[in-house]
Amino acid sequence: MLYNILRDIIVFSLTFIVNFLIVSTFWGLVEMFSPIRWQWLLKGMRYFSIPMTETNIIIVLSTLTLLVPCLLYRTWIMQRYLCWSLNCQKPKGQDAERLNRAMSVVCQKAGLDMSNYNLYVCNTKVLNAFAVGNNNIAVTLPLLNSLDLSEISGILAHELGHIQNRDTNMALLNSTMSSFGNLVVRIYSFITLALQILSFIPIIGWFTAIISWFFVIQIWLFQFLMKLPLHIITMFSSRQDEFEADLYACKIGLGVNLYNGLISITGGEARMGFAARLLSSHPATKQRLERIKNYVQKQEGLA
Ligand SMILES: [Zn+2]
Repeated sequence: MLYNILRDIIVFSLTFIVNFLIVSTFWGLVEMFSPIRWQWLLKGMRYFSIPMTETNIIIVLSTLTLLVPCLLYRTWIMQRYLCWSLNCQKPKGQDAERLNRAMSVVCQKAGLDMSNYNLYVCNTKVLNAFAVGNNNIAVTLPLLNSLDLSEISGILAHELGHIQNRDTNMALLNSTMSSFGNLVVRIYSFITLALQILSFIPIIGWFTAIISWFFVIQIWLFQFLMKLPLHIITMFSSRQDEFEADLYACKIGLGVNLYNGLISITGGEARMGFAARLLSSHPATKQRLERIKNYVQKQEGLA
């Protein structure tokens, strides 16, 4: 219990620091081109007797940008925004059909109404699935395309377990903050693209090319930084939470499906290389597989 609280505080602080760095560069940029002199902000700063300097304005604004949404992190709109910022999309066509078929098996077994859950696909190169907030589950496209339907059901059952066990609360809070760091990275990518288009114009183009490189380096650095808290979560992620989510999948009768799904993910990741494996939030440890096997065997023994 104490360990979990400590872990939550460390991850929360680290996520705040990383995103604060990113968001403050954005407000710094805005301040440079059109000084921020919003009345409500100045009034608030005066109220708390914060000296009115450019640096303080940027610090206060960046802190507000990250912490105010945290108050709203449980709302429907925040969860939707979060899924969007994580590059998750509503599945279409064949993807939608596959995902819905897998999920319908899970909900039938669990006795839950499928219409209460939102499913998403994520266009990244890793084999992964994750739960967001209290009713969203996302799977990556490679996972959806390389696992068979019964294996996908097993993985979805594990994610549903996280939602049922309320493991996703803290992650939701941290992702809410990270989404603003992500948004700044997206804005910078857009600026870079615009500058690169302009770089075809002679003379002005040289300047825009140089500035666009400045943004490219920042984007690269930020993307690296943003992954740090995720690493820490993985490192500190309570094994217990994973076991409990696995147990949930077993209890609703999808233990074998999950077991096979995890084996397929491990096999796929071995082919993907080191970076992809580091980013996976579900290291399919031998321990997890062992426990699932034991539980399923026990269940079969009772039947
Ligand atoms: Zn998990």
